Amino acid sequence: MKKFMSSLIAFTLVSTMFTGCAAPVSPSTSTAPVDPSPSSDTSTPDVISPTVHQGDIIIVGAGGAGLTAAIEAHDAGAKVILIEKMPFAGGNTIRSKGGLNAAGTVVQEKLGITDDAQTFYNDTFKGGKEMSDPELLKFFTDNSASAVDWLLEIGMDLGSIGHGAGATNARMHRPEGGKSIGATLVKTLTGNVNERSIQMDFNMTATELMTENGVVVGVIAKDKQGNIVEYKGDAVIIATGGFAANEALFSKYNPDLAGFITTNHAGATGDGIVLAEQVGAGLVHIDQIQTNPTVEQSQFEVISESIRGLGAIFVNQGGVRITNEMGTRDVLSTTILGQPEQYTYILFDQNTRENMAAVESMINLGIVSEGATIQELATTIGTDPVVLKTTLDTWNNAVATKNDAEFGRTTGMDHDLTKAPYYAIKVAPGVHYTMGGVKINTNTEVLTDDDTIIDGLFAAGEVTGGIHGGNRLGGNAVGDIIVMGRQAGTMASTLALANGSLLEDGKVVTSPVVFEIKEGATLALKDGTYQGTSEKGRNGKVVIEITVKDGKATNITTVESAETEGFYTSVEEEMFKSFIYNQSIELDAVSGATLSSDAVEEAIVDAVNKAK
Ligand code: ADP
Repeated sequence: MKKFMSSLIAFTLVSTMFTGCAAPVSPSTSTAPVDPSPSSDTSTPDVISPTVHQGDIIIVGAGGAGLTAAIEAHDAGAKVILIEKMPFAGGNTIRSKGGLNAAGTVVQEKLGITDDAQTFYNDTFKGGKEMSDPELLKFFTDNSASAVDWLLEIGMDLGSIGHGAGATNARMHRPEGGKSIGATLVKTLTGNVNERSIQMDFNMTATELMTENGVVVGVIAKDKQGNIVEYKGDAVIIATGGFAANEALFSKYNPDLAGFITTNHAGATGDGIVLAEQVGAGLVHIDQIQTNPTVEQSQFEVISESIRGLGAIFVNQGGVRITNEMGTRDVLSTTILGQPEQYTYILFDQNTRENMAAVESMINLGIVSEGATIQELATTIGTDPVVLKTTLDTWNNAVATKNDAEFGRTTGMDHDLTKAPYYAIKVAPGVHYTMGGVKINTNTEVLTDDDTIIDGLFAAGEVTGGIHGGNRLGGNAVGDIIVMGRQAGTMASTLALANGSLLEDGKVVTSPVVFEIKEGATLALKDGTYQGTSEKGRNGKVVIEITVKDGKATNITTVESAETEGFYTSVEEEMFKSFIYNQSIELDAVSGATLSSDAVEEAIVDAVNKAK
């Protein structure tokens, strides 16, 4: 039987532009915020409390797992609503550098790489200290190749493959040219979510799950202004990521990590674990927390292990190698912290730079030391030139003879380090990934400690525990969010659609976003269009254009930008809206995207000055 929620409730459309919610939609689609207790007052209220949204499936968290689940659930016929506490999508996923591990894929076949799900399983099980849940791990490794097929179908670029640490075969799939995977992946996923007009409400923090007779029936959330909003659905998927940005929580589970920096985005605070625990979910491997061995500490920049796959080595302040650089993350972190200075340098050459596009942005961030010769680099980083030269010669000889007598490294030895200039990045461990989390089965259903299914509740991605055991191999997190995100979307739809679908004709229709101007706000500018420029972006130049009509700035667009896609989209979302709404150049930077925000602000000021 078809659901009839929309006819139950009187509709009141509100402009959601400035609350960060999706654009208002036609009432017939039942997507609009609705007032469950309409009063006789016919004037338009400014605030409706509590606002209620009704979907078939509510997804909490618009990172990789949540976005993937949303696409699958929508394509299965469900009306999906995604809520995200940050002002933009992407979570930690957008920061991932290395790639997506998958075995037996079409891309591997094309590149002549032989691999299979069982070898992938064995590597992951061993890398995870033989702690992984065998059923979850088997599901993950068996379904990785089809996840790659699916990503290719929805337009993802996965043209190149790298060799990750702990992997028997090269299976780290990433965009052409060895580009970082995160930004491209999030752009592809959000593009697909937007194409499907899936409702995505930003600045909306889930605070509690709604239950009826022990069945999860929705989510209570708070918007930026502190207003309570209810999201009701037949199934809820928690995809809130991990807790590596919550020092209180990670040091509670592992006191040795107190005081560690994090590599994660500010939203990785473990909210989903708290939400799930409130309705009785069990937790697995919660004390298993990974430090990434190679974090540049001034910019919190993770230096992907793919740089080692391309031949880079570790040297300490004394200029000597310290380990097999292709070891697992936990072993490498311990080795680095065992050095007198508790850091290491990643040493590489011009050839590595040419093979890894991500090095350019590291150079732009100012974290790479350079020397025209190895001796010059030694002087720059304050180590002994003779010792460093000997270390490099010994290593290049090991590459030539395929015999690393010092540390037994056998992979990432296809390129020696002989092409000047030489480079070094100083790194130390940071808290990076939380292996443990909410207990799930292979249907992504959330379980209690004694394996009872909590009806209506699903979870996927870093918020869950069990797949990675005691240590996660690089490239497995991105594999996990796609494989398990797809499964969560499919399984949640199977449950929700037994009740019929709220989608009409297979799609929700949204209105185009139109900029709103606050009553009385004005900039008193000359009518016309004006471009403004800034060179201060994370990746250089940003050019914007404003349109002024009747003295007011009525529209703003980006003309040119090389900023990181996901972050920049959120900067546009927030700052463009704020500029037009307030008709003011007093703009708040978007958290986590300071450089892009500064550039946009400077470009807006430049354009406004021209329009005066
Ligand atoms: P995964 O890799 O598992 O997809 P990510 O870190 O990429 O995890 O994404 C998780 C997303 O969930 C982030 O964008 C984060 O801001 C969001 N999130 C975390 N807690 C909440 C919450 N309480 N309400 C809404 N969104 C949340």
